[in-house]
Amino acid sequence: MALLKDWEKVRLKVVLQYFDRIQDGRYFDFEFILSPTVNKEKAEETIQAYREASRYWNWLFDSSGTYSIIWVLMSEKDYDWWYAKVTELQGNNSIYPWDKSTNIFGHCQLSPSAFCGYGNTQIAPDGNRKLFQYNVIGSNFQSKPVANTVHHESVHFYQLANNMTLPSDLPCWYIEGQASFYGNVISGTNDSSFEKYRIIRSVPASPDWNSEDWLKFLKLIQNDRNECTKDSRNYSIGSFLWEYLLLNYSEEELHKAHISLKTKTWKEVTLEVLNKDADALNQEMAAHLVSVLKR
Ligand SMILES: [Zn+2]
Repeated sequence: MALLKDWEKVRLKVVLQYFDRIQDGRYFDFEFILSPTVNKEKAEETIQAYREASRYWNWLFDSSGTYSIIWVLMSEKDYDWWYAKVTELQGNNSIYPWDKSTNIFGHCQLSPSAFCGYGNTQIAPDGNRKLFQYNVIGSNFQSKPVANTVHHESVHFYQLANNMTLPSDLPCWYIEGQASFYGNVISGTNDSSFEKYRIIRSVPASPDWNSEDWLKFLKLIQNDRNECTKDSRNYSIGSFLWEYLLLNYSEEELHKAHISLKTKTWKEVTLEVLNKDADALNQEMAAHLVSVLKR
């Protein structure tokens, strides 16, 4: 009798790998820049949390051929410093999503107790494509880094460090699905039943769906970004589609697929790297979602 089902094993395997990999290995090549007024202790907590989390991913690749991640940490009092720093780092094509009059920073309302961030990728003045990440640590921010957030965002750093040019036919669940799966599993929060609940809340008919129904839905969300992101379905459904991928492919194979998306379409990558055409993959993922809703 099997005590653990395959999907439970794949989640457990990720957790065990995490504890194994954070023992040693290199960190991402983050380049941290601290403003003069940022709370040094809080900045250091963030830096250490992300450095440690990055060790999960670094065994998959070396730093040659990866993109730089420039990470600026500052306080809510640093508007002028931030403005000058963005211009220095990003040059003529900079965007400035900090509104001084409303104190909206990206999508986040700044205050002394807030922790807010945004990022963008751009070809830097030196000609290299880079990720620029900006975070405000409020001068009265008291909390510690949240494990789910750290592991979720670390997946995005992994994704971006290896590929900043994704094809237009990439399913919209791909990016947030991977981040949600690993963020939830490694942090031990928002487990499989929570993710399933979020799907049912967003798609109430889904517990009665068969593979054909899910296949239609997967095609719908492939072609309609609004449908795909409604109620953050790209996170919840995407996390189970990544569970499917990890039940069928190794992390090395999926890493190879991710790198290949630099120059190939999703259709080409599924066929050439994952050895399955995109339609067949959709059919298997539809069947997996039926089984998920029966758990
Ligand atoms: Zn995300």
